[in-house]
Amino acid sequence: MIDLVIIGAGPAGLGAAISAAENGLEVYILDEFVKPGGRLLGQLHEEPDGKWVNGIAEAEKLYKRAIQLGVNIRCGVSVYDLMKLDQGWCVYTTDNVMECKCLLLATGASETPIPIPGWTLPGVMSIGAAQVMGNVHRVKPGKKGIIIGVNVLSAAIARELQLCGVHIESILLPQPNLLSGDAANPEKMMESLLRLSHLAPSALIRFGGKWVSPKLGARLYPKNGFKMWDIPIQLRKSALEILGEKQVEGVRVAEITANGEVVSGTEKVVSVDFVCIAGGLAPLSELAAVAGCSFRFVPELGGHVPLHNEYMQTNLTGLYVAGNITGVESAKVARAQGTAAGLSIARELNALADHADEKIEAAIMEVMETRKNALIQFQPGIEEARKKLYSEFYETSEKASMI
Ligand SMILES: Cc1cc2nc3c(=O)[nH]c(=O)nc-3n(C[C@H](O)[C@H](O)[C@H](O)COP(=O)(O)OP(=O)(O)OC[C@H]3O[C@@H](n4cnc5c(N)ncnc54)[C@H](O)[C@@H]3O)c2cc1C
Repeated sequence: MIDLVIIGAGPAGLGAAISAAENGLEVYILDEFVKPGGRLLGQLHEEPDGKWVNGIAEAEKLYKRAIQLGVNIRCGVSVYDLMKLDQGWCVYTTDNVMECKCLLLATGASETPIPIPGWTLPGVMSIGAAQVMGNVHRVKPGKKGIIIGVNVLSAAIARELQLCGVHIESILLPQPNLLSGDAANPEKMMESLLRLSHLAPSALIRFGGKWVSPKLGARLYPKNGFKMWDIPIQLRKSALEILGEKQVEGVRVAEITANGEVVSGTEKVVSVDFVCIAGGLAPLSELAAVAGCSFRFVPELGGHVPLHNEYMQTNLTGLYVAGNITGVESAKVARAQGTAAGLSIARELNALADHADEKIEAAIMEVMETRKNALIQFQPGIEEARKKLYSEFYETSEKASMI
């Protein structure tokens, strides 16, 4: 039986594979995409010290180290079912069925769509799809586009598209509807953008705190928006409909009040040839549900997450989780979590040589340190939410052991 199967070859999966293989485990990674790296492949940004981080190069480094350690990486393979065995796990893939002693789910996050009239037209895509087109496949999604959805991810990817030579006409809000949630709320979205403030060359964003003060609400946001990397961000404009005969030709936009209500008589059509919808990210945790994990709903972590502890163990023996499946955070945090998971699994399989506990505790400290210094904070209150989740994990397992 294989020691460890990892589902997902993103930074979490590769990080875990490296630390597990460094301790002598036989490791397989399965990923449904054509190449390893996960969402890291799409990332390109400048650090505050001026250094550029190229996700493709970072993924390549992790991949090469894993291969050097003898990790088996199989791409183009999708996992669709899991079954608990007396000793270990059975993994059903589109290629074959595998059995392993321990299983790690590192499936990442998925994008939350916001339905908007006209969103089925060719030329409308999720913001993540535009990131993959530009940064992974080196194809421009169009010449001139609008991004619907103001948040950390849409601002970061707008900048990446700009670097690809694409003109971003503006980033604006969706019209409020039953499914748009906070995405249509000017104040919530400004709060979200403030978490990118250290990267932004815009004074308004840097001093944005006063614009979101409860007293003033969103009333003071400038009607014409403000700019970040020269890209107009409009918190007082909303996209009502995407227009076009056979493909995107424009977007009907209107001014909105601070509460998100459309101001009548302000509608106009902006011509563009593509549209990105950015509704935010949520942990991709279906396989944990299929396996039978307990779940908790934690908004700070992006939604429903499998109950787990700081060692990345779930409430099911031999089943671990790492990366964005446990909560939406940056790639560096995902990788650090992967390292901690790989070491915990090596300890469970009695493969961790001397000082096992010290090594694992150091890896957990590294996760916390990386989180504290992360360039992008997707939500506020992540560390506190995680502490609460870990306490619930221990309370639940204590109760279970008393039954
Ligand atoms: C669209 C999008 C854009 C992002 N952009 C940024 C950004 O610009 N900056 C940033 O810091 N963070 C960004 N993130 C967050 C990003 O997910 C993390 O930074 C990091 O990549 C998470 O690592 P991970 O290993 O947990 O998951 P991922 O990197 O997402 O890797 C998960 C892997 O699991 C595979 N997988 C999933 N389900 C299955 C299955 N059933 N069978 C087989 N394989 C499967 C996927 O193909 C994928 O390769 C983005 C996330 C998304 C979804």
